[in-house]
Amino acid sequence: MMLIILGETPGTKSTGCTAKEKSMNHPAANPKSKSNSSSKGTAVITGASRGIGAVYADRLAKRGYDLILVARIEARLKALSARLRSETGRSVTALSADLNSKADLAKVETALRDDQTITLLVNNAGIAVAQLLDADVEKMDATIALNTTALTRLTYAAAPRFVARGAGTIINIASVVGISPETLNGVYGGTKAFVIALCHSLQHELADKGIRVQAVLPGATTTDLWEIAGLPSQNLPASIVMSPEDVVDAALVVSTRAN
Ligand code: NAP
Repeated sequence: MMLIILGETPGTKSTGCTAKEKSMNHPAANPKSKSNSSSKGTAVITGASRGIGAVYADRLAKRGYDLILVARIEARLKALSARLRSETGRSVTALSADLNSKADLAKVETALRDDQTITLLVNNAGIAVAQLLDADVEKMDATIALNTTALTRLTYAAAPRFVARGAGTIINIASVVGISPETLNGVYGGTKAFVIALCHSLQHELADKGIRVQAVLPGATTTDLWEIAGLPSQNLPASIVMSPEDVVDAALVVSTRAN
């Protein structure tokens, strides 16, 4: 079981840790069911309809963020939005978008540029394919587009406004295969290596401007990603698999430490 977190509040030390070490006993693991605090601004979370993104939505709403949730399947987004609104009292907007469609991606970029309440971006939407040479090259192309191009465009939409305000947080979900590409499809690993490099560079450029940049590198996590990739997570050794709750709770300990 492995989770690496790179980049955090300016002035603090980067860290690598297991999910369990970081998430045990932290308030994120036992959030209040109803938040009555004032808003910390709006968090945009891509790929929020299930898996790791849906846990980010739950945890951030319970920490006082209003939310804009992005994914393709509107019904799932609306169901999650309704639950979180009722449990937390926060404002939660479902923004249905296929981030591999230029028009839909532009809708999310516009929201990030124009909505002054947005203070946090979680670039989480991503897909994987288990096979390498046997995989359809169109699927590889879609993987590169979603995992790197969409993430880059959304970062470029958010960052200038965060810089102008002197505050903001960008969390990009990478993967441990970004540093060990031989363990899965190398195209997927390559997209995650791109995310890690981008985060290092952004952190370098933006740290003294009050912007936090975090790369989260989960190991194998029990979500639908594996089934969709053609390798159900039940087939993986239990000892290397962690829950999406462990991933998010550990990462949030670091990225919202001062909030
Ligand atoms: P997941 O359960 O399959 O969730 C993926 C999310 O992305 C869903 O909400 C999906 O919603 C959305 N999505 C997929 N294609 C999209 C598109 N074209 N446009 C907009 N949204 C799209 O997978 P997950 O495991 O939570 O993955 C989240 C992130 O963690 C990914 O970046 C993944 O690479 C990374 N990660 C996962 C693992 C793991 O073992 N699970 C390990 C390391 C890193 P819709 O289908 O409704 O669009």
